[in-house]
Amino acid sequence: MNSVTGSVTDFLLAVEGLTVSFDGFKAVDDLSFYVDENEIRVIIGPNGAGKTTVLDLICGRTRASDGSIKFKGTELTRLREHEIVHAGIGRKFQNPSIYEDLTVFENLELSYPKGRTVVGALAFKRDARVIERVEEIAQMIFLENQLDERAAVLSHGQKQWLEIGMLLIQDPELLMLDEPVAGMSVAERKKTAELLQRIIQDRSVIVIEHDMGFVEDIAHKVTVLHQGRILSEGSMATVKADPKVVEVYLGH
Ligand code: ADP
Ligand code: MG
Repeated sequence: MNSVTGSVTDFLLAVEGLTVSFDGFKAVDDLSFYVDENEIRVIIGPNGAGKTTVLDLICGRTRASDGSIKFKGTELTRLREHEIVHAGIGRKFQNPSIYEDLTVFENLELSYPKGRTVVGALAFKRDARVIERVEEIAQMIFLENQLDERAAVLSHGQKQWLEIGMLLIQDPELLMLDEPVAGMSVAERKKTAELLQRIIQDRSVIVIEHDMGFVEDIAHKVTVLHQGRILSEGSMATVKADPKVVEVYLGH
């Protein structure tokens, strides 16, 4: 918390003046927003608004042309992707990247941060602590009875939860999810909303989502992006009633 000044110290994540140009086209244009601890922030907006690019910028996959991203006071824009993961940010992409041939247990075990074991990576086996943590996460993601099943046999929704679990086992303080309920059944969406409530007990989440019913269920605050800028921001009720939002997004 040393390089931060003034009010931003209260926020887990402070994005200010963030800009990225692709061949002169500003996909994200002087964007500022702030995420609290234990907050679920939802980013909505039409296709091409810059939503995924914002997550790419935060996780270091895309380099900012200008602006600042501070996470717990640390400037992220100059860090590499793995350093940003290490700083405590987990990112789930739209396509799941689980190991289909491995069991649920093995998928979670593989994601356990190896540096944290006492004897190091070579001797990294199923010690009691890893097993305990895997079981704890499995319970959180509704897969405690599927630990020995191959990931390939899971439903689409269960695969998405497993991937979230693989991020959670690394204990991020900020988790970023790009359209987590796309392709899920109604029941799976409900459980995903419940999972998010569990997750934010001790961390924050940024979610990109199109399903307005789901957004309504989960969002503490909604940021509406349009052409790389913030069109509106506030509670779901506030942005839903905003004529600009109705015009460019909700009206369609
Ligand atoms: P959203 O997720 O809101 O649909 P994106 O962030 O994916 O929007 O894209 C925003 C704009 O930036 C789009 O016009 C897209 O074509 C462009 N864009 C995204 N990534 C790149 C890139 N790596 N190179 C060039 N253009 C990009
Ligand atoms: Mg996108």
